[in-house]
Amino acid sequence: MRITRYTWDLEPGIPVIYTDFLIIGGGIAGLFTALKASAHGEVVVLTKKTIKDSNTGLAQGGIAAAVHEEDSPFLHLEDTLEAGAGICNIEAVEVLVSEGPDRVRELILAGASFDMKDGNISLAREGAHSKARILHAADTTGETIRVALVKNCEEDRRIKIIEDQFLIDLMGIQEGECQGALVYDNKSGRQVIYIARALIMATGGAGQLYQYTTNPDVATADGMAAAYRIGCELSDLEFIQFHPTVLFSHDTQRFLISEAVRGEGGLLYNTQGERFMSKYHPLEDLAPRDVVSRAILSEMTRCNSEYVLLDMSIIPGVKERFPNIYRTCLSRGINLEKEMVPVSPAAHYTMGGIKTNTNGETGVNGLYACGEAACTGVHGANRLASNSLLEGIVFGQRIVNQAEAIMYRRQVKVEELYQHFERSWVYAPLRPSLNPAIARQRLQTIMWEKVGIIRNEAGLKEANKEIESLYNHLAREENPLAYIEMVNMLTVAHVIVQACLWRRESRGGHYRSDYPQRDDIRWIKHTSFVNC
Ligand SMILES: Cc1cc2nc3c(=O)[nH]c(=O)nc-3n(C[C@H](O)[C@H](O)[C@H](O)COP(=O)(O)OP(=O)(O)OC[C@H]3O[C@@H](n4cnc5c(N)ncnc54)[C@H](O)[C@@H]3O)c2cc1C
Repeated sequence: MRITRYTWDLEPGIPVIYTDFLIIGGGIAGLFTALKASAHGEVVVLTKKTIKDSNTGLAQGGIAAAVHEEDSPFLHLEDTLEAGAGICNIEAVEVLVSEGPDRVRELILAGASFDMKDGNISLAREGAHSKARILHAADTTGETIRVALVKNCEEDRRIKIIEDQFLIDLMGIQEGECQGALVYDNKSGRQVIYIARALIMATGGAGQLYQYTTNPDVATADGMAAAYRIGCELSDLEFIQFHPTVLFSHDTQRFLISEAVRGEGGLLYNTQGERFMSKYHPLEDLAPRDVVSRAILSEMTRCNSEYVLLDMSIIPGVKERFPNIYRTCLSRGINLEKEMVPVSPAAHYTMGGIKTNTNGETGVNGLYACGEAACTGVHGANRLASNSLLEGIVFGQRIVNQAEAIMYRRQVKVEELYQHFERSWVYAPLRPSLNPAIARQRLQTIMWEKVGIIRNEAGLKEANKEIESLYNHLAREENPLAYIEMVNMLTVAHVIVQACLWRRESRGGHYRSDYPQRDDIRWIKHTSFVNC
C-alpha cells in the first residue's frame, strides 16, 4: 500500500510556540522525561485529551526493579531475555535492569508511595520473574505514579502541561531532521506550531487498533504513524501482547484483571467448571501470557462460550490486596469473594514501535522516542510483566543525558519549516466515501479476527486487502481529528500486517497457526519498515 503525498493545509496566522524540549505524551515516559529535562531548559508536555487519559494511569500490577538484596540486575536480565523469546536487544536490557533501580528510587523521591511491609518495600512476584521484584501500590500502581509525577511537573515552573493538543504531524527543515510539530488545539479548534530543540515522542501504544483492548481510546498509535511519515523505522510490530484475563464485556476498552491475581493463587476454569491450564503448559495458570491467551481462546471455542472464569475467592484478603479490581467487579454485579469472574483476552501492549538506540535516538535527527511508543528492543518478542513502566523512566533519563548537546542545537525559524513542510507525508484518499468512525470499527474487527492472537497467511492477506480498501475510501470529515487518527491507525495496522506476514514462525506475541514453531535458525532477526 502506497502512502500518497499530501500537504496539510496550514491555517493563516497560525500561532507558533518555541520551547527547548517538546514532549508529546503525558504518561510515565513523557512526565518523567519532562522532570529530568527541566533542569536544562524549558519543557512543554502535550496530551491528546486530559492528562488522566493514558495507559500509565491504568497500570495495576507494578514496576519491576532489582532493589532487594537477594535480587540482582543480572537475574532481572535473565528473566527479561527469557520472556523476550530470543530476540531482545541485550544491550538495551542491560541498560534497563542496571539503571532501573536508581530510576525507581527517584520515583519514590518524587512521591510515588509504594506498599510497605515491616518497614521495607513490599515486593510482589509476577509470572516469569524468578524473584519478588515488583514494587506496587495496591492494584493502582500506575495512578499512584502518575499523580506523583503530575504534581512534580505542576510545581516546576519550567514545565508546561497542555491538554487537548493533538499531534497532527512532525516537521523538519530537511529530510532526516525534525524541529517542529503541527498540533491541533482541540480547545480553540485552531492549529499551533511548536518548534523545539528536541522533540520526544512519548505517545504510548496501539491497543485501540483492536476490537478488544485494555488501552484507553487515546492509544491509536499516532506517534508511531507520525514518526513513520517523517522517516523513522517502525520495528517489531508483529509482537502484540494479548492479556489473557480481562473482565468480559462487549465494550472495546475492557477492564484488566492483573496478572498478579494469578500470581497470588487465582485459578482459571472453563465454563464447564474444569481447570484447563495443565493441558497447555507445565506452569499451568502461571504460564506466559501468550500461552494462557491461546489456551483461553481454545477453551472458549471448545465450550462455545465468550469467556472463561477466574476464581479469586480463594486468595486470602483478596478485597484488600486488589481493592480496585474488587470495586470494579462489584460495580458490575460480581462479588469476587463469592463468585468467579468472566474473563477473556484483549490486546494489551505493543512490543514494537519507533526504532531507537539505547539513548532514545530515532533515525531522524532531533526526534527521540521513549515508553511504549518506542522500540528499544528490551521486550523482544514478549514483554516481561511490569517492565514497561520501568522502560519509560530508564530511557526517558537516557534521552535527557544528551541535554547539553541538545541545548546547543539551533532553534529554526518558522519560515524555514513552512518551506519544507510540503514534504510531509500524510495520506490522501483516492475515493473518499467512508466515515472515519465506521472505518475505525471495521479496522478493529479486522485486526481482532485476522491479525489477533492466532494468525495465518490467508487471514493476513485478507486483512491487508481490507486495510488498503479502508485507506482508499477514508473521507476527510469536518472533524480533522477523527480523520487523522484513522489515517494513523491504518498506517500502523498496515505495518503490523506486513510484519506478521513476513515472520513465518511463531515467537512470543506473534503466533501463526501455519508456522506454529519457533525457528531459531532462520528467525533470530527483527522486522523494520520505513515509508518509501
Ligand atoms: C490496564 C493496563 C495495565 C497495565 N499494567 C502495567 C503494570 O502493572 N506494569 C507495567 O510495567 N506496565 C503496565 N501496563 C503497561 C504500561 O502501563 C504502559 O506501557 C505505560 O504506561 C506506557 O507509558 P507511556 O508513557 O509510554 O504511554 P501512555 O501512558 O499511554 O501515555 C501516552 C500519552 O501520549 C498522549 N498522546 C497519544 N497520542 C497523542 C497525540 N496524537 N497527540 C498528543 N498526545 C498524544 C496521550 O494523551 C498520553 O498522554 C499496563 C497497561 C494497561 C493498559
